[in-house]
Amino acid sequence: MPAADAQDIAFLREAIRLSRKKMDAGQGGPFGAVVVRDGAVIARGWNQVTSAHDPTAHAEVTAIRAACQALGHFELRGCTLYTSCEPCPMCLGAIYWARPDRVVYANTRQEAAAIGFDDDFIYREVPLPPDARTLAFVHLPSDEARAVFKAWDEKPDKIRY
Ligand SMILES: [Zn+2]
Repeated sequence: MPAADAQDIAFLREAIRLSRKKMDAGQGGPFGAVVVRDGAVIARGWNQVTSAHDPTAHAEVTAIRAACQALGHFELRGCTLYTSCEPCPMCLGAIYWARPDRVVYANTRQEAAAIGFDDDFIYREVPLPPDARTLAFVHLPSDEARAVFKAWDEKPDKIRY
């Protein structure tokens, strides 16, 4: 694990300040994030779940979207994501897809659970087999769906990601 430095502390404080500012403005939960590349903030994100009526509008996801738009690319290689709280499983998945180099966070998921954001519950659900999860999952195999996958596999002009 790479060590944190003074720059990390400064950028993380910016994410934390954002979390408070947007929470105070009624945007959503107390979460903020910034994406940094080459020592500069290229994008900011904050929780907008309740104001945007969007359960996926977490700070990390909104920061990733803004950063990718700013870079004109679907990956964040060479970037560090600073977030005021340890990412939830959705954001963790989004972060893996976005492929930044590092993530630096302040509050833990256990601390988030303690104030009513039970990301820890979702973390416990993820490794369970689908039929053991609290949410009903139904597997309906489909030749039609497989044909679409086959077409992608054979598509000569696809952009891999
Ligand atoms: Zn999240």
